[in-house]
Amino acid sequence: MRFLVSGAAGFVPSHLCDLILSQGHQVVGLDNFLTGNARNIAHLAGNANFEFLEADVCQPLPDLGTVDCVIHAASPASPKDYLEYPIETLDVGSIGSRNLLELARANDARYLVTSTSECYGDPLEHPQVETYWGNVNPVGPRSCYDESKRFAEAITMAYHRKYGLRTNIARIFNTYGPRMKLDDGRVVPQFLDQALQGKPITVYGDGTQTRSFCYVSDLARGLLLLSQSDEPMPVNVGNPIERTMLEFAEVILKLTGSSSRIVFEPLPEDDPKRRRPDISKAKRVLGWEPVVPLEEGLKPTIAYFESIHTGAIA
Ligand code: UDP
Repeated sequence: MRFLVSGAAGFVPSHLCDLILSQGHQVVGLDNFLTGNARNIAHLAGNANFEFLEADVCQPLPDLGTVDCVIHAASPASPKDYLEYPIETLDVGSIGSRNLLELARANDARYLVTSTSECYGDPLEHPQVETYWGNVNPVGPRSCYDESKRFAEAITMAYHRKYGLRTNIARIFNTYGPRMKLDDGRVVPQFLDQALQGKPITVYGDGTQTRSFCYVSDLARGLLLLSQSDEPMPVNVGNPIERTMLEFAEVILKLTGSSSRIVFEPLPEDDPKRRRPDISKAKRVLGWEPVVPLEEGLKPTIAYFESIHTGAIA
């Protein structure tokens, strides 16, 4: 199969490209490098099955040849990035989705959009099941991301219903692993960076808010399985083991052997208090569940950030 992956130079999509290529398929990767990084795909430069095109999916696309499966994974994804690029974030979920859905339609290709647990907002139901409609502030600072992804889901369903396009919607929960941006402000790179540099660990609020962290190889496997399934309705892809941010800070301190102290800073506006996926549907429909424990997944992640600090990765 020939896959098109938008946002290929981003953290999650670059791992997805690796997995798809490892299964003998071809990949055309697109990225405009707004928040992606060329070093995430540098190792694919000599791979005959990988083509890369610097392109913005919100602009008319050049002729990309025949594709069998489109994976729309382009978007700023961390709160810091989408607060810096709110318009681009809204565009890539709306105009970008429309362009790539048209491309899938023209090719009679499959289509998967990487949506988000942010669709549930600050959830009033716990854990989050796909049938929950969410508690989203449509005008808050995070709304550029939440509403962009909710629109991306809506237009995907519209193409599925109107044209019979074979579509999938993945609701991705917090993911971590090598190639995360060191400075994107997300809790994993932030805590690791602080721990490795002996700086204070900045826990926002009282640290009782929770997240559930999925290692990126588990996530990529789930996404690829979903992209080949006939399930058009959203499927949660995430790790259901939930931790408070204070617990998470302790895990990071233990694994890095850091003597950093924990300090408390104000909670950002609309920061969801709890987040944990119900993955019964992914288990049932895809036969998928995460297998990498947090402590195991953090080891290569720590090694990656260490090599950035030592300059081994430029
Ligand atoms: N967080 C924190 N300290 C930091 C960065 C983040 O306590 O230095 C918290 C943040 O308030 C949130 C959680 O960690 O409750 C996850 O934040 P992140 O930005 O990684 O992603 P989110 O799940 O909010 O999109």
